This record gives sequence, C-alpha cells and structure tokens, in this order.
Amino acid sequence: MKRQNGLIPGTIGTMSWSSHRNERGAVHFEVHKKWLTLKYQHRERGGAWEDVEQVVYFDQTPCNYGGHRKWFLCSKCEKRVEILYGMDGANKYFLCRECHGLTYASCNAHQTKRIFTKANRLKLKIGVEPGIMDFIPEKPKGMHRSTFDNIIHEIQRLEYLGDQAVVKKWEKACNLLR
Ligand SMILES: [Zn+2]
Repeated sequence: MKRQNGLIPGTIGTMSWSSHRNERGAVHFEVHKKWLTLKYQHRERGGAWEDVEQVVYFDQTPCNYGGHRKWFLCSKCEKRVEILYGMDGANKYFLCRECHGLTYASCNAHQTKRIFTKANRLKLKIGVEPGIMDFIPEKPKGMHRSTFDNIIHEIQRLEYLGDQAVVKKWEKACNLLR
C-alpha cells in the first residue's frame, strides 16, 4: 500500500503477501481521514493465533517544493516514519524499524552501518540528534544556505539508502506497510 497515492478516506481493502510459496497472511485495512485501522491475526512463534486491531495515525509535513508529504506515526514511539514493519514473534503491532530493533546492528551489514554512521555524523554538524530525521531542522547560524541544503540532501539520501538496505534484509521476514 502506498501512502503517497492511496490512503483516501473511505478506502477499505486487504493486503496479502506470500513468500516462498507460503501464504503468510493478510491485513484488512480501513482508511479514515486521520488514521488507518488494521485488522490481522498474529501469533508468537509456536503460539496460538490472536486477533489484533491497530490504529495507525497519519501526519503530514510541508514539502520543500510545495504540497505535503504523508507519514505514518509509529504507534509506540510516535515518530514519523515512511515504513512500518509487522513481524512474527514478540511484538504483534506494526511499528517503525527502531521499535522493532531493525537497526543496522541487527542487520549485521558493514555497509549499512557505515551509511547510518555517516548520516548521524552529518546530523551532528547541523545540531540534530542521531536517529531518524523526520523534519527539516533550522539552519545553524553562520552556516551557508547552500552548505546546509547539501547536508540535508545528503542525510536524506543516506537515510533512504540505509532504509533500502534494511528493507532488503527484512522484507522476507516482515510485512511492510509503506
Ligand atoms: Zn517506533
């Protein structure tokens, strides 16, 4: 499901997925103006199936070039994220990658780690805490606008690359909502 093109209030549907010939499940969703309801079944490894209902709120931020960018709000940490992950196992909800612990550390990939480290180093330069950058910060005083714009652009590029790497690693194990 794509937030950018879809998520029209009133939309009702089902997302299903399969991997390696195993039907893995389906999520029923209902789109409201400011949130999305998800209904699905979850089980811990070896446990019994349980019905789960989750409400995911949206948020939007203005884009640099006009219009708005839509986000999901993670139900646990309330950060704006582009992708929510649903997993078998301990946590039954669709949450952001950080709340599921799907960081570069669990990815165990050298390259991915380098990408996020690089992005975090750039964030420090412009006074942003390491972690997902879900807003465009204020330009620090004394920094050239073009330098600042380049740093922002580079952070967004690195985060995208890092996300893609995490997604690639986890898409077989998770259900992605994006
Ligand atoms: Zn989260």
